[in-house]
Amino acid sequence: MGNPCLRCGACCAYFRVSFYWSEADPFLGGSVPLDLTEPLNPHRSAMRGTLHAPVRCVALDGTVGEQVGCTIYPMRSSSCRELEPWEADGQPSEKCTKARVAHGMPPLEPIEGLPPSPVDSPWPLTA
Ligand code: SF4
Ligand code: SF4
Repeated sequence: MGNPCLRCGACCAYFRVSFYWSEADPFLGGSVPLDLTEPLNPHRSAMRGTLHAPVRCVALDGTVGEQVGCTIYPMRSSSCRELEPWEADGQPSEKCTKARVAHGMPPLEPIEGLPPSPVDSPWPLTA
């Protein structure tokens, strides 16, 4: 089946991508590049490009619906890591479907059982 995220990227151009601010503080073990974030409130930061319409995360490379990559994939936030294409029962996740439909793409097809590894988050930079 391959990783559908590599030809999608809709969730990175639809949702506000926010996380606890320390995820972008290297002195506290954060990995998200600080210069790619902006404050959301006293407790949370967000990826630049995701706070206002038209939403598109600044770390997103490529064309949504064609070919995409996350330029900070190993350093992405917990919010990015938690967004799954499929639920554990093989049904497409609600967030995935919402983002894909908003970008004119159909929901992912359900799959049998657990998603094939390593589809555990929005798309690695390389297949
Ligand atoms: S999780 Fe869903 S919406 Fe996000 S890139 Fe993958 S297929 Fe697209
Ligand atoms: S996975 Fe990468 S491109 Fe997508 S929202 Fe997260 S940081 Fe941005």
